[in-house]
Amino acid sequence: MINHIPYNKTEPSRLTLDILEKLISFPTVSRDSNLELIYWIRDYLADFDVSCRLTYDFSGKKANLFASLGSGSAPGIILSGHTDVVPTEGQAWDSDPFKAVIKDGAVYGRGSADMKGFIAAALAMAPKFINSGQGFPIHFAFSYDEEVGCLGVRGLIKDLQEIGLQPAGCIVGEPTSMQPLNAHKGAYRFRCSVHGKEAHSSYTPLGVNAIEYAARVILYIRGLADELSREEPRDMAFTVPYSTLQTGTVRGGLAANIVPKSCEFEFDVRTMPDAPYEPLIERIKKFADTLVPEMQHVDPNASIAIECLSTTPGMSISETSPLVRMVKRLSGASEVSAASYTTEAGLFQEAGIPTVVCGPGDIVQAHRPNEFVSLEQLAKCEAFLNALINSDGSTNNGSGA
Ligand SMILES: [Zn+2]
Repeated sequence: MINHIPYNKTEPSRLTLDILEKLISFPTVSRDSNLELIYWIRDYLADFDVSCRLTYDFSGKKANLFASLGSGSAPGIILSGHTDVVPTEGQAWDSDPFKAVIKDGAVYGRGSADMKGFIAAALAMAPKFINSGQGFPIHFAFSYDEEVGCLGVRGLIKDLQEIGLQPAGCIVGEPTSMQPLNAHKGAYRFRCSVHGKEAHSSYTPLGVNAIEYAARVILYIRGLADELSREEPRDMAFTVPYSTLQTGTVRGGLAANIVPKSCEFEFDVRTMPDAPYEPLIERIKKFADTLVPEMQHVDPNASIAIECLSTTPGMSISETSPLVRMVKRLSGASEVSAASYTTEAGLFQEAGIPTVVCGPGDIVQAHRPNEFVSLEQLAKCEAFLNALINSDGSTNNGSGA
């Protein structure tokens, strides 16, 4: 069977546009509730007799939604998207970011590309997924709090594991211009807190200068980064073809004439998909430990603590894997690429579900004022999803095209 359907449409269906307009109208900025949007999707799917599993956050103000459409004995394919969007404050928008505007062949609005366009196209396909008899279910997995560390989807994946559902593959519809991504880096964020001892700056030996000790740790981190840039094996599929780390914020001190008693800084580690971050953190902690005796010589309560703030694993899947071959075939793409940014894909992969990233819109538009997704990209996404219905969906017969 030839699964690839040529892209002969340049405009998406009316239904996709109507749903996208609706989704954009919910201001689901990560800090706020996404329940109105989730309940709207739940009600929309209820009209097709599809029931949803909702998994809530601890506050009960946010939820993930999981639903299975169509039947069949095969484990099926997950279409995954996050429902939250980044804030718009301080950005110069030409129109209300939460009111979709269609002009110049594109839909403008916060989340149009990242990534409500994909969710809208998937939802518009619901009747087809249910009635086409494709022999395998399509699962919708829509999460909260992706933009703040891929927090929500962890609960959804845990729920799937608890009910024993192991789909054959997952397609994360982040904006890739419908070009499959088979790898992205991991992202890990840490906070280092240095506690020293305050003193008048004319008596520096009586104090423990927290900023100076923090600076030494920061320089050590920079040294590690330099070492990686020299020595780590290259993967030229990535724009920056090795793991990186850097310090992003520093806070400390009151005045030039006071020895600062505390300093806090945050650093970020971006690893190649298969490179572990733990050895790097161990080395930083070890170095910090070597500074502490000197600090405690002045004040026994002085300390340096490093805590992990978030971990988002990288992902990589072989170009020859059945899922990658299927997604290439369905999208009509001739090659795959790798991204430096992170997505929820690493978490699905960690749960044993083969995962590829492929969705409408350009990542360059994400998070920017006047974010948009082109009508052509939405049409391509629809064609992709149509082709999915006509595929075997098991991903274990990827040699068809
Ligand atoms: Zn996104």
